[in-house]
Amino acid sequence: MLPPPTPARTPRTWDVIVVGAGPAGATAARVAAAAGCSTLLLERAAIPRYKTCGGGLIGASLAALPPGLPLKVYDVAGQFTFALDGRQERTLTSRRPTIAMVYRSELDAALTEAAAAAGATVRDSTALTTLEQQDGTVTVKTNHGEVLSARAVVGADGSASRVARHVGVQCAQVDLALEVEVPVDERTADRWRGRLLMEWGPLPGSFAWVFPKGDVCTAGVVAARGNPVALRAYKDAFLTRHGLAAARPLHDTGHLTRCRRSDSPLARGRVLVAGDAAALVDHWSREGISYALRSGDLAGRAAARIAADPAAADTAADHYAREVDDILGTEMRASGTLMNLFTRNPGLVHTAVTRLPPAWSRLDSYIAGHTSVAGIMTTPLARGATALAALLPQGSARTPAREPVPS
Ligand SMILES: Cc1cc2nc3c(=O)[nH]c(=O)nc-3n(C[C@H](O)[C@H](O)[C@H](O)COP(=O)(O)OP(=O)(O)OC[C@H]3O[C@@H](n4cnc5c(N)ncnc54)[C@H](O)[C@@H]3O)c2cc1C
Repeated sequence: MLPPPTPARTPRTWDVIVVGAGPAGATAARVAAAAGCSTLLLERAAIPRYKTCGGGLIGASLAALPPGLPLKVYDVAGQFTFALDGRQERTLTSRRPTIAMVYRSELDAALTEAAAAAGATVRDSTALTTLEQQDGTVTVKTNHGEVLSARAVVGADGSASRVARHVGVQCAQVDLALEVEVPVDERTADRWRGRLLMEWGPLPGSFAWVFPKGDVCTAGVVAARGNPVALRAYKDAFLTRHGLAAARPLHDTGHLTRCRRSDSPLARGRVLVAGDAAALVDHWSREGISYALRSGDLAGRAAARIAADPAAADTAADHYAREVDDILGTEMRASGTLMNLFTRNPGLVHTAVTRLPPAWSRLDSYIAGHTSVAGIMTTPLARGATALAALLPQGSARTPAREPVPS
C-alpha cells in the first residue's frame, strides 16, 4: 500500500500540489516528482476508491501507462457486438484483442503508488476546499483546516472540479452516465468473455454498453444530461434485455461526463487543469482515461517548469494549453464532428460500422491505438457520411434533438 508521508519531505512551500488521484492527477504527480519537484498529491477519498467507470483501456490509454505498471486485467475484448436500439445486432472481430478491462480502484491505486515511488507525497482522505493565487504562490486549504502553499497546482479533481471553477473551464457537452456492476453466473460470464457490446440508444447521442470482467459485467447508459427519467428507463430496459437486471448490483451509480468548449481555458496563472477537470473527454465514446493520462503527463511537466522558474509561469501555462490543444483538442474537434453525425443519424453510423469493412477497420485501428479519431474523420468515407447525414432527415429521434457540438 501507499508509503506514509515522510515529515522530512514536507516543505513550507511545495513545488507542486496536485488535486485528485485519478489517472490525470496520479500521472501529473509522478511526472512532477520525477522531474525533481517536491510534490504533494491530495485525494478526497480513501485510496483505493470506487470510481464509476467502464474501466475499458483502449490502445491510447495502454500506451500512456507508465511501463511495468502492475495491473490486473480481467478480460481483453476482441469481439465487438454493435446494436441499434436493441435491433440489427452484429458481432465483428477485431484484428487483435484490444480493450483491456480493469477496475478503476485498482488502476488508480497503482498509478498513485507509481507517483509515490517517484517521490510524491500522497495524502488521501484529504480534500481541497478552496484555493487562491497571490504574489507567485498558490494557497490551498483542505477539509482538515490545513493551509498549504505551492509554486504550481494541477487540478485533476474530476468532472465536479473545484479547481476548474477557479480556472473558468467551459463545457460544450454535459452528459449523465448511469452504470451498474453486476455479478454474473458462469454461463453468462462465458457468453460475454472476450466480447463487449455497444448499443446506440433511443435518446439523441446516447448509447449503452456491456463490458466483461470475468464474474462481473459492467453495464451502463449515457445521454445528454437533463432527462434522467428517460435515461433510467432506457437503462432498465437494456439490462433486462441482456439478462443483467436480476442480480443485485455490486455498484449502481451515476456520474457526469463533460466535454470542453474548444476555447475553454486550461490554466489560470500557476494553476493548470487536466483530465475530467479540464473536460477533456471524447464527445462520442466518452472515453476519458487516455485523455486524463496524456493531459496529466503534460500538466506534470508544465507544473515542474513553473516551479523551476516562477518568472516563466505564463509561458509554461501557455505552452501547456497549446500542447493540449494540438494533441487532444484536435481529437476532440474530430470527435465533436463524429458526435454531430451520430446524433443526427445513429442508423447511418451503425450501418457504416457494421456493413462497410473499411469503416470497421478504421474504428478497430483507433481502438487499438494505431490511428486517432481525427484519422477516422478525415477519410473520404467519413467526409461522405458527414455530408450525407446533413442531407438526410434526422433518424431515430424519439425525443427532441440535442444541440450540435459547437465546432
Ligand atoms: C459511467 C462512465 C463510464 C466510463 N467508462 C470509461 C471507459 O471505459 N474508458 C475510458 O477511457 N473512460 C471512461 N469514462 C471516463 C473516465 O472515467 C474519466 O474520463 C476519467 O476517470 C478521468 O480521470 P481523471 O483523473 O481526470 O478524474 P477522476 O478519475 O474522476 O479522478 C478525480 C479524483 O479527484 C478526487 N477529488 C475530487 N474533488 C477533490 C477535492 N476537492 N480534493 C481532492 N480530491 C478530489 C476524486 O475523489 C477522484 O479520485 C467513463 C465515465 C463514466 C462516467
